[in-house]
Amino acid sequence: MRHQKSIEYIMEASQYIAGGVNSNVRLGGQPGPLCFKSARGALLTDLDGNEYIDYAAGMGPALLGHANEDLVRAVSESLHLGQLYAGQSELELELAKRLQAVIPCAELVRIGMSGSEMVQTAIRAARSFTNRRKCIKFEGHYHGWFDNVLLNLTSSPIDPGCRSSTIPVRESLGQSEAAASDTVVLPWNDLKCLTEYLDEHVDDIACIIMEPVMCNSGVIPPVAGYLEAVRALCDKHSIVFVMDEVITGFRLGISGAQGKFGVIPDIATYAKAFGGGFPVAAVAGKATIMNAIGTGAVTHSGTYNANLVSLSAGIATIDLLRENDGAVYKKIERVGKAIMDGIRSIATANAPSLRVQGFPSVFNTYFSESDGIRDYAQLKNCDNARQREFLGLLQDHGIRPTSRGTWFVTAAHDENFVEKTLEAVRRVLDRM
Ligand code: PMP
Repeated sequence: MRHQKSIEYIMEASQYIAGGVNSNVRLGGQPGPLCFKSARGALLTDLDGNEYIDYAAGMGPALLGHANEDLVRAVSESLHLGQLYAGQSELELELAKRLQAVIPCAELVRIGMSGSEMVQTAIRAARSFTNRRKCIKFEGHYHGWFDNVLLNLTSSPIDPGCRSSTIPVRESLGQSEAAASDTVVLPWNDLKCLTEYLDEHVDDIACIIMEPVMCNSGVIPPVAGYLEAVRALCDKHSIVFVMDEVITGFRLGISGAQGKFGVIPDIATYAKAFGGGFPVAAVAGKATIMNAIGTGAVTHSGTYNANLVSLSAGIATIDLLRENDGAVYKKIERVGKAIMDGIRSIATANAPSLRVQGFPSVFNTYFSESDGIRDYAQLKNCDNARQREFLGLLQDHGIRPTSRGTWFVTAAHDENFVEKTLEAVRRVLDRM
């Protein structure tokens, strides 16, 4: 595959844009960050004319596929009504009603623009509600790039018996140590550690935040009973349970992880999939917690919140997801499972250490001798060099998961793409 135009683009763009990219997640890769010309359905086309079956899906948002016609039409129609009113529009209520109808914890919502902001809103509301300072987060969980949560994402795993090792590791230069000191980082899926920590420190803890499935590090599901136990601990200690559903929301099903696992948090954050690729986000939670935002006591603001593009995208996406009794989800389930099973069966013969873990709509491939990855420490022990080689060769064969090996399946992937994808996986593993 030739990438000459992408390479030239990045060289020129780097004279104008720091690093040539506008999100650090896009730095790196082989032969460097690619530049794309268009995306339609499940396909992406780069500047050199190479076509990829896209499993990055914009890092999750393109649940309906790229440039879905119904979604594009709905957003286009909204453009003629203006963009921002510095006041309310009836579409806000339309979107809020839909969110409340499908999100179990959503007694009240607020609409915003990005997952990072919604996380900050949730944490602030939790602090005010409990009158406590600290937030427990877990290693490997990503909750946006702000100072108090960009912690322990690439660091060494916390020691077993973690009670003495809860000093957060900042991921960025320039990140505020003071903000990080409001956060305690623990290993996830480790109930003993969490229980013991809370027994000693509960008076400080305002909230526990987690991705209900650790999608940003290996797509690791919660071990049986873990979410229920965290819910019970939060009840016991009057701690606010925050689920960050920025990836799982609307992807694991219309009611997200809450619906799938039947565990209802006090407050939850959403972005990505419910905008179908357009920027929209939400925080949803119990009225007792959200009311402080409503009175103005807890600040949540933003010039672009509930602009008409966001609203029309959110409304159209949710309507399309609910159409025909959730036909989109049934298709994604079928297609995603066929890809997961197909990769597993090719791996059995050609690459026994290639593992597939997760859900049909979002799964991860990795190389490990372990049979299942259940925590961050195990993920860190995977063979990253093989993973990089696998992902690089897949890209050369026109298959594009994310650079972490996460595969997002969308409504635009069908059986034809499954066949092409599995054929490419077979050829890549033969070469490796
Ligand atoms: N939470 C989770 C679970 C995420 O995956 C992300 C983005 N990858 C965020 C928060 C931050 O969202 P955004 O990039 O929209 O700020």
